[in-house]
Amino acid sequence: MPAKSSPEGTVTGSLAALRPLEGASRAAVAAALVDAELHAPLRARARREQEMEAAWQQLHAATLPILEQRRRWLAELRAAQGDRCAYCGCTFEAGTPRRATVDHVVALARGGPDTRANCVAACQRCNELKRDMDVALFRKYRPWLAGETRDPPPRSEP
Ligand SMILES: [Zn+2]
Repeated sequence: MPAKSSPEGTVTGSLAALRPLEGASRAAVAAALVDAELHAPLRARARREQEMEAAWQQLHAATLPILEQRRRWLAELRAAQGDRCAYCGCTFEAGTPRRATVDHVVALARGGPDTRANCVAACQRCNELKRDMDVALFRKYRPWLAGETRDPPPRSEP
């Protein structure tokens, strides 16, 4: 009874592959052994890799267009802002904490819309400091959060 689940590359698989070769030449048996022991597992691995690649493509089919849109927004926002951070005014510098990122002015976590109108280009440092903070509050506290001043701004009266 042959095993149903991928017998290739197993002893059972090897024996099953050899069964039709009873009475065959030594060369044919050797070729069948090499195929069963060496080539079949490689084919099985290639198949698994193809399946994983297909699964990855399927998983990212939805996100890749969003990434492409973000790249476009960032390029447009940078051009509109003179290549400077909307919060600290630094000039963007790739590969550093001053690299350009897309920041949602009203954070998505606060119900802000995922539209370009709700986005600015901000350096990674400001983006990370701001997180989902209210933008007016962030502007007020940014120098303190960034360690540029020792004293936090006074609390506003309610
Ligand atoms: Zn900044």
